Amino acid sequence: MPELPEVEVTRLSFADRIAGARIESVRLGKPLRWPLGCDPGLLAGRSVRGVRRRGKYLLVDLDRGLLLLHLGMSGSLHFAATQPSPGAHDHFDLATSRGILRLNDPRRFGAVVYAASEDAPEAAKLLGRLGVEPLGGDFDAAAFHAGLSRRNAPVKQVLLAGDLVVGVGNIYASEALFLAGIRPTLKASRISRPRAARLHAAVREVLAKAVRKGGSTLRDFSNARGEAGYFQLEAMVYDRAGQPCRVCGTPVKAIRQGQRATYYCPACQKS
Ligand SMILES: [Zn+2]
Repeated sequence: MPELPEVEVTRLSFADRIAGARIESVRLGKPLRWPLGCDPGLLAGRSVRGVRRRGKYLLVDLDRGLLLLHLGMSGSLHFAATQPSPGAHDHFDLATSRGILRLNDPRRFGAVVYAASEDAPEAAKLLGRLGVEPLGGDFDAAAFHAGLSRRNAPVKQVLLAGDLVVGVGNIYASEALFLAGIRPTLKASRISRPRAARLHAAVREVLAKAVRKGGSTLRDFSNARGEAGYFQLEAMVYDRAGQPCRVCGTPVKAIRQGQRATYYCPACQKS
């Protein structure tokens, strides 16, 4: 599933190239998670101002209104001057004067939603409850500790919930907890202030590194230029059950937490 770094990597791979483009036409394939919310013909003639990211949403700003794109479980975007004729899993094409932006999404949990503005109900419904951006200036260590201290759930679940800090998905939660030396099952409320500060720094470090590595390609993620990511090759614990910890050599352990696989080193993450 594309997580925040993969979405940011996707953004970086086409934002500059599509900025300033004029929309020529929109092609819709099979229904996605949510409907577009406007007549696709209405978008023709509008221009693309730029592409921002909020959580795992890409916000394609138009001269009037914006498109909110979500990659869901299996989506990827490709942007190129020309595209082959649409395949079975190509469910959205935005044809512009600079190229065609195409969403390929086999499982169709992704979406493209039009909103007249970021404050419009259809946008606010998707963006309104998101926590702070982990890579932005609003992600504050003291506020993060205060948020953790109010939760009795295991810290990994609290990270995944996305309301304290947005976009820390399954891979990067396991990796950040390893880096901070915190056991994923520890109740969030029991994390001391210094340890919360370490986790805060670890979240930022892991996500920033993942963006630098082009994201993680576990199955078929690629950015809008068709390039795979390499973070997973350097993961400390994620998907490494039974393999020696890269720090201490203890076999990495895998457990299930809320239907998701969690990986940790029992020696480096004692509590
Ligand atoms: Zn270890």
